[in-house]
This record gives sequence, C-alpha cells and structure tokens, in this order.
Amino acid sequence: MINSYPAIILQPGRSRRLRAGHPWVYSNELVMDAAAKALPPGGLVRVIDAGDEPLGVATFNPHSLIACRLLSRDPAALVDQAFIAARLQSALDLRSLLYDQPCYRLIHAEADGLGGLVIDRFFDAVTVEANSAGMELLLPDILAALDAVIAPSAILVKNDSPVRKFEGLELYDRVVKGDLSQPIELIENGCRFLADLASGQKTGWFFDQRDNRAAVAALSNGRSVIDFYSYAGGFALQAARAGASRVIAVDRSEGSLALATQSAQLNGLTLETVRADAFAEMERLAAAGQAFGVVIADPPAFVKNKKDLASGAKGYRKMTRLAAQLVQPGGFLLVASCSHHMSLENFAEEVRHGLGNARREGRILRSAGAASDHPLHPSLPESAYLKALLLQLD
Ligand code: SAH
Repeated sequence: MINSYPAIILQPGRSRRLRAGHPWVYSNELVMDAAAKALPPGGLVRVIDAGDEPLGVATFNPHSLIACRLLSRDPAALVDQAFIAARLQSALDLRSLLYDQPCYRLIHAEADGLGGLVIDRFFDAVTVEANSAGMELLLPDILAALDAVIAPSAILVKNDSPVRKFEGLELYDRVVKGDLSQPIELIENGCRFLADLASGQKTGWFFDQRDNRAAVAALSNGRSVIDFYSYAGGFALQAARAGASRVIAVDRSEGSLALATQSAQLNGLTLETVRADAFAEMERLAAAGQAFGVVIADPPAFVKNKKDLASGAKGYRKMTRLAAQLVQPGGFLLVASCSHHMSLENFAEEVRHGLGNARREGRILRSAGAASDHPLHPSLPESAYLKALLLQLD
C-alpha cells in the first residue's frame, strides 16, 4: 500500500544534509506556505526536494524549529502500527543481544528509527516518552505496537519532559495500562533495584550509567565508597555487591534514599544513607578529615540551557574539587555530567581545573558516555549528553 500523506517541499539547495543521512529538516529550510502552516502539528508528510524528488516520510510540526523528523527514506512508507512494531522488534533484538535481563532503554529516539520517542523497559513494565508532536499523535499506534511486540503488563506515558514545550505540547503523566502505584523491580549488572516509575521523580531509573556503574564496581572490592547524588543507589549498591567495605549514599531526596535502602535489603547488602546537600556534605566530610577509596559524583544537569553554560561549568569544577579532596591516595573518583549543552572537552577542562584546585594529580582510566542501549544516530553526535570520567588520584 502507498501512503497519501501531504507533501512538504524543501527550498532549493536544502536537501543535502538530509541526503547525507541527517534525519531532520529545520523550519527555515522548507517552503512554509499557507498549506504547510495549516497541517496538524505532528502529522505525517512526504518530504520532497525542490526538484520534485521524494526523499522520505517524516512527522511534521510547523511550530517547531525541527520541522521534519524523518521516519523512513521510502517515500511510499506507511507509518502505522505495523511500521512501529517492526522498529520496536529491531530495537528489542538488539537489546536481547546486549543484556540477559529485559531491563533497558528499549527505544532511544532517532538512533532506533523513531525520532522523538523514548521507551524504557523494566521487565513487564514500560515508560513511554513522546517528545515530539509527531510521536504524540502516533501514541495510540505506539501503545498497540508495544502490546503486539512485548505485551507489557503496565505502561506509564511519562510526557513531562520540558522539551515538549518546544513542540507546543502539554506536560502530563498517565498510567495507561496496569498498576504502577508501587515501586517495581529491575536488574542491572546482576544487582536488584526498585524504581518508582509513577512518583514525581524525573525518571524511574537512569539506565545510561550501567557500564560506568560496572566500571566503578570493578574497582570497589575492599574499599570504602561514597556515592553523592545517589538517587536510588545505582552506583552505591553495585559497589556494595562487588565487595566494598562500607558504602554511603548521599542524596537530598528522602524518597530516593528510602528506595536505595529497600534495594539494599533486596540484595542482602548494607548501605548507609545521608540526606544532605552534596556540596555541604562534601565540605563537612573534608573538614572532618574523612577520605574514601572510591568517590562518585553523578549529579543532575548543572547546565539546563545554553545561557547557564558558564555558571553550570563552574559547578562541575567545584564538585570535582570537593569530591577529589575526599579520595584516599591511590583511590578512585568518578565524575559525570548529563548536561546536553556541555561538551566532553568542556567537562574534562572543568574536571582538570577542579583537580588542580584540590591540589590532586592522577590519571583518567575511562572516559565514557551512555551504555549501548542508548545508541547514537551518526548524524546527531550532539545527542551524546552523558560524559563520565573515571580517575585514579595519587
Ligand atoms: N547518580 C544517580 C543519578 C543522579 S540523579 C544514578 O546513578 O542513578 C540526580 C540526583 O541528585 C537526584 O536523586 C536528586 O535528588 C539529587 N540531588 C539534586 N540536587 C542535589 C543536591 N544539591 N544535593 C544532593 N543531592 C541532590
């Protein structure tokens, strides 16, 4: 079957990037006439170049800077439940190869062929984030495709990301299937965790740090470990499971620490928790002369928008200085940034200054981003938001 989607015409000379593999067309690159403006935000369109050659099928939002998000390079493609199910199946096949437990990011937007969509899986429960008007309109087909491919027992539509505002979308959360009133279980690197999907927290679980947690755990045997910004204990408990002599989780959220404590019990592990502001606790511990074999600092994004870059960058410098002061000689430090607007070079520079300010020297053992269930589209390198540096300090 062939589709009958309306056409969106590119301006002359504007098809090069799309042809080279990029999945987006910006609003100033197409013929934004009255007909285009009248199209429903998020509707499916055929993208046609100025010479009349059809280039593919995209979702189209006349109100967004990213006007077209390409879903298929086949101009005849029909984007329906079966189309989405096929993309889900490919993504599922990859994750099944990568992980022995069905707990992972199942769909990571463009890199999984579904620009604007993020799906996380926790055994039989999933969270679905539609971050574009296109994915919002396709939600009924997405949910039906999910039922066809993995038949989840519970689905939370977690549409509360601020990026939705750029698409003119409302923010809302809705459990559309099953019961998510209680925390649900997941397994990561062999460690059991509880995640509260439906609570006010930003997300249920940060799967992106999986490999970095494993790298830290591998160094933790017999060492004391302190995990700042611990959230539900991802780093802390994997270090404990790997044989750390003592593990402390520090977070300002009581709810997150309570989950971490429950998860420790699930695994038969001992965890100390401290509810505190991370910087204040770092300063207090340093003043008390305390030091640890492993120090982790994986905070929320300090740089929320481009204009915060300078002040946010200073935050990473200060965090590194304070955290480095707590590392025993020969011990390890993991610092991370999930700020989209901060490059790895930028982050590494702040970390270097932070170490200098703490008068500490050492070596970077690992510089890594998110795990493989967060693949990158080759044309969107800027979507690599996570940066983690693992160091040994002298
Ligand atoms: N490291 C975590 C993810 C961190 S998410 C993991 O591996 O899963 C950010 C966490 O930082 C949240 O749990 C939030 O409650 C906490 N937080 C934010 N600001 C804080 C502050 N000033 N001091 C301590 N914790 C803070």
